[in-house]
Order: sequence, then C-alpha cells, then structure tokens
Amino acid sequence: MAKEKLTYERKLVWDVFSDAEKGAAFDFASGYRRFISEVKTEKEAVVWVRKEAEKKGFSELSESRKSKKVYLANRSSALALAITGKRPIRDGVRIIISHIDAPRLDLKPQPLIDEEGLSFLKTHYYGGIKKYQWVTKPLSLHGVVVLKSGVKKEIVIGEKENEPVLTVTDLLPHLAKDQMEKKMSEAVDGESLNLLIASLPVPKKKGKEGESAKNRVKEAVLRLLYQTYGIKEEDLISAELAAVPAGPARELGLDRSLILGYGQDDRICAYASFQAFLEAGDKPEYTSVCLMVDKEEIGSEGISSAQSGFLSLFLCQLAGITETELARSLVKSYAISADVNAGLDPSYREVTEAQNAPRLGYGTVVTKYTGHGGKFGSSEAGAEYVAYLRRLFEKHRVIWQTGELGKIDKGGGGTVAKYLARQNIETIDIGPALLSMHSPYEVSHKGDLYCTYRAFLAFYKG
Ligand code: MN
Ligand code: MN
Repeated sequence: MAKEKLTYERKLVWDVFSDAEKGAAFDFASGYRRFISEVKTEKEAVVWVRKEAEKKGFSELSESRKSKKVYLANRSSALALAITGKRPIRDGVRIIISHIDAPRLDLKPQPLIDEEGLSFLKTHYYGGIKKYQWVTKPLSLHGVVVLKSGVKKEIVIGEKENEPVLTVTDLLPHLAKDQMEKKMSEAVDGESLNLLIASLPVPKKKGKEGESAKNRVKEAVLRLLYQTYGIKEEDLISAELAAVPAGPARELGLDRSLILGYGQDDRICAYASFQAFLEAGDKPEYTSVCLMVDKEEIGSEGISSAQSGFLSLFLCQLAGITETELARSLVKSYAISADVNAGLDPSYREVTEAQNAPRLGYGTVVTKYTGHGGKFGSSEAGAEYVAYLRRLFEKHRVIWQTGELGKIDKGGGGTVAKYLARQNIETIDIGPALLSMHSPYEVSHKGDLYCTYRAFLAFYKG
C-alpha cells in the first residue's frame, strides 16, 4: 500500500518517447509545417482538407449517394467530415471541433487610399491582436474577390520567393518620443494599420505637366489589379482579403524541436484532428466527426461559426434523422473542443500559476474550464467525463497535462466548447500549449503536437 505512488507529476515527452516515437513526432511535424505554410485562411484550409479527404476516398454528402466517408462544406469557410461507425447514430457520435480562422489584418470594404505618392490598403484587424506586433513585418495578401457576376477571383500574393510582399510601417525611434510614452495598447492605432502597396504613378496626362501625384499611384494600382485579375475598385466591396505574415513556417531551435509559424491557433488542432480522423480507420465503433469552423477569433458569431446550425444539419442529413432523434444522440455523444492553450513562458511567469499552468513539452493539454474571473463564460467539463478521458489516455499511452488559462483575474478567454455543450454534448478543451499566441509568429512544440494527435486518435478509437 505504502509503495503506491501517491503524488502526481507531469511528464516531459522526451523522457517517455522511444526513439521511434521521437522520429514519428518529427515526421508528423514536417507534414504539419507544410500545411501551415500553405494554408493561411479558413477558406484555404477548407480547400486543402477537402482535397486531402477526396484522395482518401471521401465524397460530398448528398441525399442520393450513400457513402460511409463524407464531407460537407458550410459555404466556403467551414467543413465537416464524417466516417459512419459500426453503431447507429442514436448511440452517440465522437466529435472533434477545431477552428481554422486566425488573427490577421482584414481589408476594409473600401481599402484603397493614396497619400504623398504612396498607395495603401486600409485594414480592420480581425481577432485579438497586440497591434504593435503587426508593423514592420513582411505580409502577404490572401483571399477572394467575388465579382458582381458571381465569378470568384482567388488571390495569394507574397508567398513565393519571387513575389512582392506588403508591410505596415512604423515610426523611427528618433521621432517616437510621444509614441514611446503611450500605453502599449495605444502606441499603434488601429487606423494606422495601413498596408503599403505601391509607389509607381500612372504617367501625367499630356498638357497637364503641373499635375500632382495625387491619386496617380492609386490609379496605377487599379490598372494593375484590372490587368491581373479583372478587378475594379468597386469589386473590393464584395471581397474577403486579409494580410497575414508572409513566408513559410520554420523549425525553431538549434535542436529543431519547436515550430515557429503563423496561424497555429488553431490550425495546429485542425491538422492534428484531421490526421487522427483519417488514421483511426474506416470502421470506427462510433460515427467519427471532424469539424472545422470559422469566426472563433471574433466570438463565434456568423454563419460559418460554431454557433450556426451547421453541425445539426450535417448530422441529421448524414443519418437521415430528425432534430429530436439527433437530440437523443447528442446526449450520448462526446466532443473535444480542440484548441490551444497558453504555455508557461519563463519570461512572463507572473501571469500564470505555477502548479496549473501548462508547459511546452509536457504533452497535450486538457483544459477542464476556460473563461475568466470565477470561471465566468466557460464550459466546464464534468468529473465523470475527465475520468473517462484519463482511462482512455492511459489505455492509448497518451502524454497529457492539465491546463488553466492564466492566473485568476489576470484575463482569460474562451473556446467553442460552450457552443457544443449548449447542444447537450459532453465537451472538453484539449490541445497543445503555445508561446506567443496570437502573434504573427506563434511557437509550438513538436512533442506536444504529436501528443495532441495521439490524444485525438485515442478519442476516435475509443
Ligand atoms: Mn483558438
Ligand atoms: Mn485564439
């Protein structure tokens, strides 16, 4: 009795992994790095996942064709995939939901301005950012412009080595006396997040040699856009264009054990859940659902978000059941809200509570509740569900740790967990811890990424 270990300690993944597992973790991270280097918006994630799913034999959900491996996109910004299980839907399903949007600078509906011989695109930032982090970086432009005719123009500029990039300028230190004395939250104004995009004017008109440069650069930009894409200024009104950090994600650290890259919150979970979903096999016990939603970073509002009726519609259509029958199924279902947590940063210990803060390298993070001040606004997982996951993770040798989002009353945040819980589905937050979350270059840990994948795989396998 006395020999039984009574204390609990988190474990460092490198102390537990075999050499083969360490190799597998590094291999898994390479595929992930390619994914986040290529996919920088929710729409691009939908296209990428759908293409990969089709390669694996998935087809679009339709009334006429019965298939066991299906997907359905919600518009072009969210996606659900399912593999029909051995048991009927009324026995419950297994759902992993992640979000595929990330903080960025969205273009305003009328973005193009011309000032002092330079042309800029005005932006409205999307999601929770520290604005000062987004200046003086090479940025690329991603998105779509939909013409009045309905024709969709897809745009990606600034990712290839030979393509130009955009940037938001900042004041030089020599003249920043007033700016430096401002609070960090006010040092860079939202209305100053303008993307520098051009400086070449159209030629002066004959006989108007005295003409100023005013609007001639804008005119030149419009001509360029028209020649390249067939886009006029008015077309930018029906567009979703965003500036994001340009270039690929990189291996980080002399030992290459970490990843530095944009949009890891939460495409790291989208990737890990999708790979686990595929790997869990074609005949799961329970129907497996892999759901990727948009708009989490702005409060999960809107039709492509976790609050839309898309999941119920998808499941009803998949199983050919009514809303009432679905409600009976959901009460027996389990869900993981797959999202990242904030890792303890040794340079900023004061915002975390040492015993409960997740560390990089100690496995995927099980976050029983999020929210702020008194668990407000969080969806807390019940003790029974957490116990079930402890059993499951032990069975599948998953390395995991507990997590909280910061010290009490130091701030906080939420995930989509509460929107699943609202549908009466047992839900818990699981995902890796990141450093520099919501910055242009977030940091993840290869061991944690692999543990997250293993946790999701265990969840689908049961
Ligand atoms: Mn997130
Ligand atoms: Mn986030």
